[in-house]
Amino acid sequence: MNTATGFVYHADYLRHNTGYHPESAERLISIMGKLEERGITKKMERVLPTRASQAQIEYVHTDAYVKKVDTICDRGGGMLDPDTPLCNDTCDIALLAAGGVIKAVDEVMDESNALKHIFALVRPPGHHATPNRGMGFCIFNNVAIAAEQLKRKYGAKRILIADWDVHHGNGTQDAFFEDTSVLYFSAHQYPHYPGTGWIGEVGKGKGKGFTVNVPLPAGTDDSGYLYALNNILVPIATEFRPEFVLVSAGFDAHTADPLASMHVTSLGFGL
Ligand SMILES: [Zn+2]
Repeated sequence: MNTATGFVYHADYLRHNTGYHPESAERLISIMGKLEERGITKKMERVLPTRASQAQIEYVHTDAYVKKVDTICDRGGGMLDPDTPLCNDTCDIALLAAGGVIKAVDEVMDESNALKHIFALVRPPGHHATPNRGMGFCIFNNVAIAAEQLKRKYGAKRILIADWDVHHGNGTQDAFFEDTSVLYFSAHQYPHYPGTGWIGEVGKGKGKGFTVNVPLPAGTDDSGYLYALNNILVPIATEFRPEFVLVSAGFDAHTADPLASMHVTSLGFGL
């Protein structure tokens, strides 16, 4: 009998070598270490990722962008943008990251098992990657590709992406800005990198109203986040009635994170 919660992880995620960089293999080593130390991995089912296909990557990204990424990796690595280093293994590992979130979706949708929640512990990250541009440590937009998998393979019509990373997920927003089947919600520090995510960015055309941005001032703490989530996300999500919820669960709003200025506590993330 499967447990109800699973986690996606693969040691190959450590092979995306960014050198001395805030988005490093140490992130996953540290998280896995804590989960193991506290016996949490034993309570969850391990889900092994497989690589996303080129076609699945192109659910979201342009062929020209994918070729550009491949070319940099084939050369042995280089900078995709000033913040985003690639090594020769990055393209392969980025496919495994996107494939990990796809696998999580497939496992949850598989009614023959009891997995209903899966934590995808993958890297490189994705929410800044737009359809035609990688940036902000992100190569392929893992969560957006998984949402497309839900639409294309399972016919999902109402997918909620809740993004509480401290940075606005501009790539995810761009991917679904005119799409009524994906409600993108982001609460983030503003103004801050990448500069987008103002409250007036609400979607376009028929997608108007399906993008919800909650720009929060530097210094927002547990109570501020709880207020925003309870008073904005919960009522909107209740009305939307999502068939599936994807969370871009960045933890960089933590008070100890040096790249931002929020004051969410470890306890606050658990509330
Ligand atoms: Zn972030």
